[in-house]
Amino acid sequence: MRLTLKRRLRCSFCKKSDSEVGKLIAGPGVHICDTCVGACNRLLDAMPASFSGWDSMSDAELLAALKPAESTVEAVRSVLQAQIEALRKRGVTWAEIGQALGISRQAAWERFS
Ligand SMILES: [Zn+2]
Repeated sequence: MRLTLKRRLRCSFCKKSDSEVGKLIAGPGVHICDTCVGACNRLLDAMPASFSGWDSMSDAELLAALKPAESTVEAVRSVLQAQIEALRKRGVTWAEIGQALGISRQAAWERFS
């Protein structure tokens, strides 16, 4: 295998590097690994084909959907966190980040620092 100095690609959701995951799909500024695609698919599978509201789902269906939903929330949250860390590294202020999110500087700092 040829060694390169290219920066390692990482899954934007779970932060694992391309050497730690089976497959990594690269998108514009974002990458997703096979494990995270699987988590998304499980969430989609847990949702009824024609969604007619949470009330139409049984207790068992809703309970089965909790874990995949939580994994997806965690994955999406890590993307947001990574974006904010990239902005902070560039010296973008908490006030600017808060403004972009429609929250106060203080709220942005409390949520993401
Ligand atoms: Zn991943």
